[in-house]
Amino acid sequence: LKIRTPRRDGIDLVCEWTVTPLVNAEATLIGVIAQGRDITQQLEAERVKKEFTSTLSHELRTPLTSIIGSLQLINTGMFGQLDQEAAELALVAERNGQRLLDLINDVLDLERIDSGRLSLHTEDIALHELLEESLVLNRAYAERFGVRLRLASAPPKVMVRADRKRLMQVMTNLISNAAKFSPEGGQVELSARYADSGVQVTVEDRGPGIPKEFRSRIFGRFAQADSALTRRKGGTGLGLAICKRLVELMGGEIWYADREGGGTSFCFRLPAQDSARVASG
Ligand code: ADP
Repeated sequence: LKIRTPRRDGIDLVCEWTVTPLVNAEATLIGVIAQGRDITQQLEAERVKKEFTSTLSHELRTPLTSIIGSLQLINTGMFGQLDQEAAELALVAERNGQRLLDLINDVLDLERIDSGRLSLHTEDIALHELLEESLVLNRAYAERFGVRLRLASAPPKVMVRADRKRLMQVMTNLISNAAKFSPEGGQVELSARYADSGVQVTVEDRGPGIPKEFRSRIFGRFAQADSALTRRKGGTGLGLAICKRLVELMGGEIWYADREGGGTSFCFRLPAQDSARVASG
């Protein structure tokens, strides 16, 4: 029971009431215990949070999307060629607009997950096809860092029950991190195999690895080992926090390990549908 109650000094409080009946050995009601917990501040915090996310979503995201769209049109040369300096500035504006939009989307995603408002659209997905698609989608990004993406070996033809868009989001995050932290000319390898009644996907890079002092925080919010480097290469520090929650929502788990010979392997495991091993594709 949530009831608004005026306090003696006139201030309205909202209390959450729990009423417990007291019953004796003969099952006769001899009284009730009523306990009230003041939740006024909690409700106010929830209201402010809701207002904040709504501002992020409508007041910031909507106009930003249209700014980026316009810049993209200008940058394709659709309205004539800009001189070199203007073209460079327009590109910088588009890239930074996109970074801002990524940050807003990440904050909104985390909020949606944490408040239990993210609903997954699960379907049977051919994992090997999704992995190949993820390589195609992220190739241009990796090329910006001079990094090559490849499949280490042919992935097993297995179906997983997952949300396609969210699984792709996890892949994109892991691949873009691997590319971002790889040395120029480096290589990022994707692989998948059956493991512990599930299927395990691994993204391996030959980057600097995860610093020891950072390891316990890596899946936390706004966690970045080297903020100067991330400022140069882009990133919000929210990607892995979102990946962890998404993989867990899909019934799996995520972790990382040092790669033999240097670099990092990020892995996640999803339950495989044994009955759904397929021979498509
Ligand atoms: P970001 O948007 O900063 O990449 P993430 O949550 O995806 O945020 O990653 C958090 C931090 O973890 C990164 O800033 C980086 O310090 C570290 N990290 C993630 N992936 C790798 C990787 N493959 N190699 C080295 N460090 C990594």
